[in-house]
Amino acid sequence: MGTDDAYAELGLAAGATDHEIKAAWRRLVSQWHPDRNSSPQAVARMQRINLAFELLRQGIEAEARPQPKAEPAPASRPAHTPPPPEPPRPAWHIERKLKLSLEQAAAGGRMVLRGRHVERCEACEGLGYRHSPRPCEHCHGAGRIGQRNWFGWVTGFETCGHCEGDGLARLECEACNGQGELGRCRYEIAVDLPSGLRHGEELNLSAGGTHGDRLKLHVMLREHPLFRLDPDGTLHCEMPVDGFLWMANRWIEVPTLGGMQQLRLDRRHLRYRLRGQGYPKTHGGPRAHYIVDVKPLFPAQFTREQEKLIERLAASQQHPPGSPMHEWRRRFEGWKGKQG
Ligand SMILES: [Zn+2]
Ligand SMILES: [Zn+2]
Repeated sequence: MGTDDAYAELGLAAGATDHEIKAAWRRLVSQWHPDRNSSPQAVARMQRINLAFELLRQGIEAEARPQPKAEPAPASRPAHTPPPPEPPRPAWHIERKLKLSLEQAAAGGRMVLRGRHVERCEACEGLGYRHSPRPCEHCHGAGRIGQRNWFGWVTGFETCGHCEGDGLARLECEACNGQGELGRCRYEIAVDLPSGLRHGEELNLSAGGTHGDRLKLHVMLREHPLFRLDPDGTLHCEMPVDGFLWMANRWIEVPTLGGMQQLRLDRRHLRYRLRGQGYPKTHGGPRAHYIVDVKPLFPAQFTREQEKLIERLAASQQHPPGSPMHEWRRRFEGWKGKQG
């Protein structure tokens, strides 16, 4: 491919700027990348696009390189020179788990993922070779080789190291040069997560960069020590409370996804609904309700001190005429008088 052909391949006029070359290449990659384009020409077209890009970029690099001078200049790169592009390669597919706390998943937002990736060769399924229909030359297809002792007698067998026992000749995989992998890297990728991800969901995202790399995330929500989540986003918390405070309609602190909050107990109720304080109903959607079930706890046995206080409490109760207790006592005394 000549320089003129390279310009034509990228749909550019001769002498296009570095910026124009990059922009054209990115646009064509997004159009012709075999991951996105299923047409049978996609692979060949993609190779020509990358070749043209490399060729033109090499030309520009050569022009931009400073001429040697008598006085060596400081070895710093001029600020306006962009870093050399990475050589074109097929897109990689990074796949990993994404473990989130319930609080993180409820909030969503930006997260930086770091790790190592090995891009497995799919052509040979990571083995580095293909099987040939011919038998292995080393063991003649037997898969094992006789071990001979000192006198030359066969005393046992060992697995053939060339075919690893299957007896078939192996051909080196051309796609990966027998490596079983196409490359490896350490990555650091910033992802923007929607709020309200569910356990077991899969996210398919761009991994950034110019190679069309993809990132597949398997979402896992960590078990929460306090909350339980319903599929519709309703959040539950079961909470023991002091029975005396519950009796007295006191304020208590309850945990929520957004931190601690005050809740007024009401001795007529065990269940409290905090509207819109649950988990997002959908990705980025409004929040479902948060339900707190309280379990008032009383001592199994009252202390002597508590007994005295309870007697004082009971004695302090007023039952004015017309109250249910006053009415009951009136009827009860009447009935008792007739019993003789
Ligand atoms: Zn063999
Ligand atoms: Zn391979």
